[in-house]
Amino acid sequence: MQIAPNCTRILDAYGLLDEAKRLGVLPAAMVMKDAVDGTVLTSLDLKDAERRYGTPYMVIHRSDLHGLFLEACRKAGVDLRTSQDVTSYANTENGARVTLAGGAVHEASLVIAADGLHSGARAQLVGDEPVSSAYVAYRGTVPIGRVRENDISETDVVVYVGPGCHFVQYPLRGGEMFNQVAVFESRKALAGEEDWGTPDELDAAFAGMTGNIRNGLPLMGRDRWWRMFDRDPIMTWVYGRIGLLGDAAHPPLQYIAQGAIMAIEDGYVLAEHLARHGTGVDKALAAYQAVRPEHCRRVVLTSRAWGKLWHLDCEKRERRNDILRAREATDYTFVDWLYSITALTPEQEPVMFQAIPLDTPAPVR
Ligand SMILES: Cc1cc2nc3c(=O)[nH]c(=O)nc-3n(C[C@H](O)[C@H](O)[C@H](O)COP(=O)(O)OP(=O)(O)OC[C@H]3O[C@@H](n4cnc5c(N)ncnc54)[C@H](O)[C@@H]3O)c2cc1C
Repeated sequence: MQIAPNCTRILDAYGLLDEAKRLGVLPAAMVMKDAVDGTVLTSLDLKDAERRYGTPYMVIHRSDLHGLFLEACRKAGVDLRTSQDVTSYANTENGARVTLAGGAVHEASLVIAADGLHSGARAQLVGDEPVSSAYVAYRGTVPIGRVRENDISETDVVVYVGPGCHFVQYPLRGGEMFNQVAVFESRKALAGEEDWGTPDELDAAFAGMTGNIRNGLPLMGRDRWWRMFDRDPIMTWVYGRIGLLGDAAHPPLQYIAQGAIMAIEDGYVLAEHLARHGTGVDKALAAYQAVRPEHCRRVVLTSRAWGKLWHLDCEKRERRNDILRAREATDYTFVDWLYSITALTPEQEPVMFQAIPLDTPAPVR
C-alpha cells in the first residue's frame, strides 16, 4: 500500500513510524509515465515532500501494516475476536448493540461499524449500493531479483497511465520485493456480462502498451482479481450510537491511494474527540460527524475524476500530457489538501485545489 504523509503523521503520533519505516520503503519520487510510449509525464519529489509535510511518503506491504496495528492494539489491551459475523445493529437506551450470526448479542456505549465496501451496517442504515467502475485490478508481488532485468525503478513509485488502463510499480519490504498492479476497464463489464475482468481481458487491455508493462504482465497473480467499486458519498455517518468508519462510510476508487488512509484518519479523529470528551460519547460523535464526511466526499469524487484523467485517449490524452509535462516536481497544488495535517474540526480543513479543466489552452513552453 502507498501511505502518504497524512497517514505516516498519525503513525508517528501512535509511536509506530520507526517500525513502519523498517518494514516499508521510502521512495525518492512518484513518477507518472505515459503507458503507450513510456515517456515521463510528471513526478513528485517525495524527499522534498517529507520536508514540507514533516513525515514521509511510504510504501508498505498491507499485511505488515496490519501486523503493526495488531501488535499495538494487543499492547493497548484490545480484545480482538475474529470470525464474528455481525448480522444486525440497533440503538439501545444508553448505547448500541450488535447481533452475531450465531445469535450472540453484544452491547456497548458506542458501536463503530468498519465493515468495508460491502458493509452490512451501511445496508441496514443507509440502504444504498456500491457503484461499479467496470475497472478491475490484478496484483503481483515478487522478489526483486525476478524483475531486475526489466527497466524498473528500485527507488520510485511509478504509475503508467494509458487509455482505459494504468499500471503501478514500486519496491516493498526494504527493497527485497517488487509490487506491480495492473488496472483496466473491462469490456465485458461494459457489455453487462457477469463474468468480467478475466485474465484474457488483462492481456488484451495492455497489448499495445510499452515494453516494461508487457514484461510485468506475466508476473501478475491470475487466480484472483479485484473489481473496482466505490459508492456515492453520504454526509451522515452517525446514527444514534452507531458510527460508520472507513470503507463502510466512504469507499473510494483507489486512484489517489487514500482509502485505507481515510480509515486510519477516521479512527484517529474519533479517538481524539473521545479522549477530549471523556464520557461524552455523543459530543465526540458529533465532532467526528462534523469534520470527516466533507473531506472524504472530496476524496471519493476526486478519485473518480483522477481515474478519468489517467485513462484518457486521443486528443485529450495529448492535452493531459502537455499539462502534466509543464508541472514542477515540487508543485504541491494537487496534494496539499490531502497530505496536510488531518483536521479535527471543519475550520482546520485545508482548502482543496482548483482542478484544471481539460479544455484549458496548452501551456507555452
Ligand atoms: C487494488 C487496491 C489498491 C489499494 N491501494 C491503496 C493504497 O495504496 N493506499 C490506501 O490508503 N488505500 C488503498 N486501497 C484502499 C484500501 O484497501 C481500503 O480503503 C481499506 O482496506 C479500507 O479499510 P476498511 O478497514 O474500512 O475496510 P476493509 O479493509 O474492507 O475491512 C473490513 C473488515 O470488516 C470485516 N467485515 C465485513 N463484514 C463483516 C460483518 N458482517 N461482521 C464482522 N466483520 C465484517 C471484513 O472481514 C474486514 O476484515 C486500495 C484498494 C484496492 C482494491
